[in-house]
Amino acid sequence: MEFSGPTLFRIPSREVSQIFAWRDAPPADFAVIGDPIGHSRSPQMHRAAYAALGMSYRYVAIQVPVGEVREALDSLTVKGYRGVNVTVPHKSEALAWARAPDELTSRIGAANTLELATGRATNTDAPGFLKTLADLNVKAGASILIFGAGGSARALAAVLPTAGYRVSIWNRTHSRARNLADEFSLNFLAEPVLDADVLVNTTSVGLQGNELPLDWKQARGGSLAYDLVYGRTPFLDNAAEWGLRTVDGKPLLAAQGSLSFEWWLGIKPPPGVMLEAIR
Ligand code: NAP
Repeated sequence: MEFSGPTLFRIPSREVSQIFAWRDAPPADFAVIGDPIGHSRSPQMHRAAYAALGMSYRYVAIQVPVGEVREALDSLTVKGYRGVNVTVPHKSEALAWARAPDELTSRIGAANTLELATGRATNTDAPGFLKTLADLNVKAGASILIFGAGGSARALAAVLPTAGYRVSIWNRTHSRARNLADEFSLNFLAEPVLDADVLVNTTSVGLQGNELPLDWKQARGGSLAYDLVYGRTPFLDNAAEWGLRTVDGKPLLAAQGSLSFEWWLGIKPPPGVMLEAIR
């Protein structure tokens, strides 16, 4: 079914975990696309914000296989979708689709927020991460060690040095970390020496319950261990055991969602509503 213009709908609660194939996407205003997409918490976050503000937009989760991003986004545009969040593994393809990405998003090479009618694109992961650091009282000048050199590490690398942080990077595949270090003026580490105020795990290793090869004896008690994966991971469990403060990926998910919401609608969700929706 196709329609034009912004159409407002009530949000049936039975839709909370419903996933649509992009060819069967229902009339709606906003969506998150990815593959897989069943794990995404974005629909519940955005719906909670609409409810808190008395808005009746409709936000759905849509599965888009690799290689079909352009076709899917064109189709959602025709169906009248206003905005789309993009998650793994489509953030680079989303940027390639966009006609008007902002400068930071082009530098990062990945977009997670699109406005379909205009082709505008932005990346709210990077400023969202900075927001969470500020909330955690990590001030400019602090030293940050990034583990990993994939897409999310790249987003962090693009903003942390310019925000005044001193950044080192280690990755299992050294060449990828070295490339990011060269591009964004980071300190490349061949070994993961845990000598920093903030240790950020951007690898996906914790998703399978696995661990990075770290010597936690080196860590400074009282520093912060931050894992981008949502929920407890061996990285955070070890850090807590060695006396570090810990934070998982939920505050970042809420921060990037809140920034996307504001970018589309020009209004901030009430503080805490999105994070509360995914606790
Ligand atoms: P990615 O581009 O696929 O990069 C994955 C990284 O993990 C690479 O550095 C890879 O190292 C490393 N890695 C994977 N398995 C490993 C292992 N067994 N041992 C050591 N290193 C390993 O992924 P991404 O997009 O950066 O995302 C990474 C994680 O962040 C995902 O779990 C994602 O869900 C999470 N994330 C969360 C948020 C949020 O809002 N909280 C936002 C973005 C991402 P190699 O280079 O050596 O392969």
